[in-house]
Order: sequence, then C-alpha cells, then structure tokens
Amino acid sequence: MPLYEYQCNTCGKDFERIVRFSEADLTPCCPSCGYQDTSKKISAAASFGSSSAGPSISSSSSCAPGGRFT
Ligand SMILES: [Zn+2]
Repeated sequence: MPLYEYQCNTCGKDFERIVRFSEADLTPCCPSCGYQDTSKKISAAASFGSSSAGPSISSSSSCAPGGRFT
C-alpha cells in the first residue's frame, strides 16, 4: 500500500498516511486538529532512480600564486 504525505490546510500539520487504493481519493482527517481540510502532497520517492553521484570535485590547484620573492 502506498504511503502518502498530507498537509493540513487548517493548522499546517504534516502527516503521513498509508492509504489503500480504494481510499486514495478520500481526504483524511488531520490527526492534530481533526479537520478534513487536508491536501495530498506529491510523493516523489519513486522517481529517484538514477541519481548521479554529485558534482565531481576537481582539485587541480591551477590558480596558485606565482609571486615568489627570492
Ligand atoms: Zn490540522
């Protein structure tokens, strides 16, 4: 069963809820204030498949100071 994130529009509470497919269109009540004015967040957990491993840090010190006093 998918886990959805919701946010309460009344008190701003974030909460997660496991929702069955038959209940996916229902709006759950806020566990904090009890109002049903909640909105489902878009869960992007399934779309993080191919993440490139960050920026490659090139540690070539090409701009070394050339001022050398002898
Ligand atoms: Zn609430």
